[in-house]
Amino acid sequence: MKIQAAVARAAHQDFTIEELDIEQPRADEVLIEIHGVGLCHTDLIARDQFIPIPLPAVLGHEGAGVVLATGSHVTKVKAGDRVVMSFASCGECARCHEGLPSYCASFPALNYTGRRHDGSSGISVADVPISASFFGQSSFASHALTRERNVVKVDDPQLPLEILGPLGCGLQTGAGAVIRSLACPPSSSLCVLGGGPVGLAAVMGAAIAGCKSIILVEPIAARREMARSLGATHVIDPAAGPVGEAIRAITPSGVDFALETSGREEVVLAALGALGAHGLLGLVGVPPRPESAISVNLASLITFGHRIHGIIEGDSDLDGFIPELLDHFRAGRFPFDKLVKTYPLSQINEAIAAQLRGDCIKAVLVPDTRQQ
Ligand SMILES: [Zn+2]
Ligand SMILES: [Zn+2]
Repeated sequence: MKIQAAVARAAHQDFTIEELDIEQPRADEVLIEIHGVGLCHTDLIARDQFIPIPLPAVLGHEGAGVVLATGSHVTKVKAGDRVVMSFASCGECARCHEGLPSYCASFPALNYTGRRHDGSSGISVADVPISASFFGQSSFASHALTRERNVVKVDDPQLPLEILGPLGCGLQTGAGAVIRSLACPPSSSLCVLGGGPVGLAAVMGAAIAGCKSIILVEPIAARREMARSLGATHVIDPAAGPVGEAIRAITPSGVDFALETSGREEVVLAALGALGAHGLLGLVGVPPRPESAISVNLASLITFGHRIHGIIEGDSDLDGFIPELLDHFRAGRFPFDKLVKTYPLSQINEAIAAQLRGDCIKAVLVPDTRQQ
């Protein structure tokens, strides 16, 4: 079957819109007609080969759409079902059994290699296979092949399917980091560093969790304003002076929790410095280079009982957490639609530029076939 897709052909180059061939679903696969797909920083670092997926590749990992066809072994969904897509996991390892599939032992193989587990690809150009299966979906396209573990059914027909895809990555990462990974209790204090989609989802998660002090550190004024409207009690412009001092001015004994979303070493150190006794720092930001590292003073770490926790996908178990976030959205407690701006898939390069400039917080790409 012919599909339209945005193809990454070279690092640091624009995506190209191309017509490709997609296979019919195998026994354990599901074919999805994509209605919308979020644009995430992770797509760009894959294109730019920080994640070394072989190019050319169809990226995209925050898709939502309607099931078009299913393989003979699929029981979870059927044709016509509306679904949010998320990352792939094996379902058989210790972490998957614990309900922590984002720490699956096969996570890199299933999400980053550009191939199915048997080494094949479901997408080709003129009979030459190209990388697909990115996060088990490759959804920068009109259609995508995935597996039933990757999809979560959306039962409520009133929900705006087109913009739900980011729940499967950026939004569950931010909200889940606060609600699940850090498990911030009511009345605790939290500092979020970076007000992109993940950081702002964390602010909404903190409001849901009942945190008393929700501090956002972010250089862009419009994002600080947005954070206030989403429940941040304090916002800090890092250009205005030392961040550590600004945080201590709000919580003199330091914060109970910090969440770092930028990946930059100096920001991670500032977050660590903001912790109070037994404080917990969560790291979700992808570092700028594979060898990025920080130096931590061990005596200070032990003296104050500081803890550091690397976080993938907000410890989401997909089938439990995504419906939970949809309930919060319906109830007005998780208004992520305020962050979203839609673009036609064919304008993906303009959407990337707008997101990098800070003109838009979360771009969602809608296949051009859906716009006619
Ligand atoms: Zn697993
Ligand atoms: Zn993502």
